[in-house]
Amino acid sequence: MPEKDTKFSAQGGPASGWDVAIIGGGPAGIMSAIQSAANGFNVVLIEKNKQLGKKFLLTGNGRCNLTNAELDLKKLVANYHNGEFLYRAFSPPAGGFGPKETIKFFEDLGIKTKTEAGNRVFPENNSAEEILEALKKYLEKNKVKIIYDSAAEGFELKNKKILKIILNNNKKITAKKYILTTGGKSYAKSGSDGAGYKLAEKLGHSIIKPSPALTPIILKEDWVKKLQGISLKNIKIFGESGEILFTHFGISGPVALNISGKIGELLKKNEVKIFMDLFPELNQQEILENFQELLKKYLRQAIKNILTEFVPERFAEVLLEIIKIDKNKIANNLSKSEKNIIVRALKGFEMTAEGVLGFDNAMATRGGISLKEINHKTMQSKLIDNLFFAGEIIDVDGKTGGFNLQMCWSTGHLASMQ
Ligand SMILES: Cc1cc2nc3c(=O)[nH]c(=O)nc-3n(C[C@H](O)[C@H](O)[C@H](O)COP(=O)(O)OP(=O)(O)OC[C@H]3O[C@@H](n4cnc5c(N)ncnc54)[C@H](O)[C@@H]3O)c2cc1C
Repeated sequence: MPEKDTKFSAQGGPASGWDVAIIGGGPAGIMSAIQSAANGFNVVLIEKNKQLGKKFLLTGNGRCNLTNAELDLKKLVANYHNGEFLYRAFSPPAGGFGPKETIKFFEDLGIKTKTEAGNRVFPENNSAEEILEALKKYLEKNKVKIIYDSAAEGFELKNKKILKIILNNNKKITAKKYILTTGGKSYAKSGSDGAGYKLAEKLGHSIIKPSPALTPIILKEDWVKKLQGISLKNIKIFGESGEILFTHFGISGPVALNISGKIGELLKKNEVKIFMDLFPELNQQEILENFQELLKKYLRQAIKNILTEFVPERFAEVLLEIIKIDKNKIANNLSKSEKNIIVRALKGFEMTAEGVLGFDNAMATRGGISLKEINHKTMQSKLIDNLFFAGEIIDVDGKTGGFNLQMCWSTGHLASMQ
């Protein structure tokens, strides 16, 4: 463990400069600061807001879905875009810190946790605020100096090493090691407005163009307005199973959010056709058989009423309108080909994505610092010797369910081990 410098300069920092300077006080920066301080280093955390964790307080609608208790490493990384980069960050020992370690870390801080559907882990009392308070206490206990209301704007560099950070008030911070944790580009009002990418670019790093992820999808079709408020459970789109929710402009809900990063990428080229399987567990023949049984049972009923055995009424009406079958047609009068068309529509309901909502509504950012320029074993820059990265600023993003915060805890922890 290093000897802490106990002589302080006029600016309040150690006379010989800080051991570690961390830029950005979100979850990744906080974890980096806690861990660096726990490892015996003098740490300064620079945050441009007047408070830490502004976005963190919004997580899980204020309840904070702090991790996902997926303990199988292979399955865990499958929940991320570029997840293979995180193998080391998730694997203890050697600095790794997975969901199990995260849950223990918070329990040790006095935060009792509970696991909900889909392995989503929340604090027992549903309060992101309580977690932030506990983290702040820990920072204080470990004597991390926090400089609020100050944005990093540039660096002094020499021989592939950062000598100083230059703040917006022209103050300079000297440290031996720097960790950049300025987040992505979504919910800019929370502080992460993409400025960190510019800082990294100034240091020679390449940025994979950021696009919104975990954001609702805009559909081209007009009929979507009639479906506003309808949710469909256990559906599958692009290999992603779960629930979607129709809005007045398109689709939201876990499945839509999880595929939005991919849709956003594809939309750079063209509009995107989406095919929704309403019954992923059944094949076409099985649905047809179930359907025919119902038709026999309700021979004299209108087809729209029979379909409500499968889907909500408004959805049934829109589906029939799209495939041009009269909703009032009596079951007995349906032709064989009409029955097949209905079944095909249930297995592959077609929608056209023409956009995704922008960064103001996105819970994550796809893109960021190119992973080719970061050592995945340490989170160290391959271009600047004393620079490390953690959190959403790197080109990794996760699905909903606590994966994004887990990535911040894990990369923040790993970046603090050197
Ligand atoms: C509404 C919403 C709900 C979410 N819910 C969940 C959830 O329940 N579970 C989950 O896993 N994920 C959730 N996320 C995602 C999660 O919040 C992010 O993954 C996480 O906050 C990223 O952490 P970070 O530390 O990398 O960046 P951020 O949290 O964005 O923090 C970066 C910090 O850096 C500061 N900063 C930026 N530039 C500078 C600069 N130049 N100088 C100094 N400081 C700077 C910013 O002010 C900010 O405080 C949610 C996101 C949103 C928007």
